[in-house]
Amino acid sequence: MSNSSHLAHRIQALQPSAIRELLKHSKMPGVISLAGGIPSSELFDKEGLGIATQKVVAENFNDAFQYGLTEGTVELRQQLVELCQQRGIATTSEQLLITSGSQQALDLLMRALVNPGDVFVVERPTYLATLQILSLNEADVKSVGSDEHGMIVDELEELLKTTRIKGVYIVPTFGNPSGTTLSASRREQLVKLAEEHHFVIVEDDPYGAISFTDTREKTLLQVATERGSQENVVYTSTFSKILAPGLRVGWIVLPEWMKQKVAIIKQATDLHANSFTQSLVSAYLTLDRLDPQIELIREAYKKKCLSLSKYLHQELNEHITFNQPQGGMFLWASFRYEFDTTRWLQQTLEKGVVYVPGEFFFSDNADKKTLRFSYATATEEQLYEAVQRLKAAL
Ligand code: PMP
Repeated sequence: MSNSSHLAHRIQALQPSAIRELLKHSKMPGVISLAGGIPSSELFDKEGLGIATQKVVAENFNDAFQYGLTEGTVELRQQLVELCQQRGIATTSEQLLITSGSQQALDLLMRALVNPGDVFVVERPTYLATLQILSLNEADVKSVGSDEHGMIVDELEELLKTTRIKGVYIVPTFGNPSGTTLSASRREQLVKLAEEHHFVIVEDDPYGAISFTDTREKTLLQVATERGSQENVVYTSTFSKILAPGLRVGWIVLPEWMKQKVAIIKQATDLHANSFTQSLVSAYLTLDRLDPQIELIREAYKKKCLSLSKYLHQELNEHITFNQPQGGMFLWASFRYEFDTTRWLQQTLEKGVVYVPGEFFFSDNADKKTLRFSYATATEEQLYEAVQRLKAAL
């Protein structure tokens, strides 16, 4: 018997990410990547982060290099209360838990919520890494479709007629990979269903601040709070896309009934989030540079998104169709005819351009003619060249 049989059953069942295998070559010189969901490091606020770093070392050295509270530093949590308020979320620092990015938030939350076999509902398509977390926790993942207005909540309502569910995971604003935003009426409908059927909504909001317009949908947590049912929604967000992902600082707004237990899981996992980067984010926030920084990112991504859309429209209109994103980092496209975007990747790679085939974002019923482009990291010139190469690969 091989030693790997010692691995827990749920771990034995894990498969290496096929995307990683496929995209291994994307770092080859000359290849333009529209694949990774990576913020543009050219836009990082080098000056501001530099000033904040010096400030931490000069003014907060001991705390920044010492163990800290599991829930996160008091200062950052107080600052986050304000930041949440700007997003329409009324919370207190006692409800907040600082995490190592929102990825850890999702891990902690699913560990707290999912018993093996519990039904958790996701959108089709959805964020790949959450599918992995759900699988690690042996959830029974069910999916409902989505369109240009986000998750089709009517489908969820249908499912609820026959199935008892534990929760819904959703990226309601500028979703990854779909780029779409859940409409106001569907937000109301979803929150209402959570009340009636007593399930938890895990609201993942890394991209909400990166809006290309001035219209904002309310967060699901705000909608629920206004209805008096905020206990049904757990909200998580992150500094990864608005400041820098290497900081690994995210947060969760926890309902009262989850607060203590999630803190215990956090404690067992890593005691607390990185003291230094929490202090750094706090120092950065006191510089009043975050809002202008978000402005910069919004403008830059909007421009890139419009360029990519224009080139795709000009060059590939007879082949692919897509929704125009109103924010975030992703453009989700679909071939107009039956097509296998996973197989096509080999050809586009030969021409020097990569994307993520859509099938990896589905828990079931994968739509093989879909694909995700990220416009955040490529330059304008690269976006143009990438589309020429895609055309040449057809
Ligand atoms: N949720 C979604 C939908 C994401 O796209 C990402 C980043 N790719 C994350 C969570 C995790 O982000 P982080 O851990 O860097 O905060």
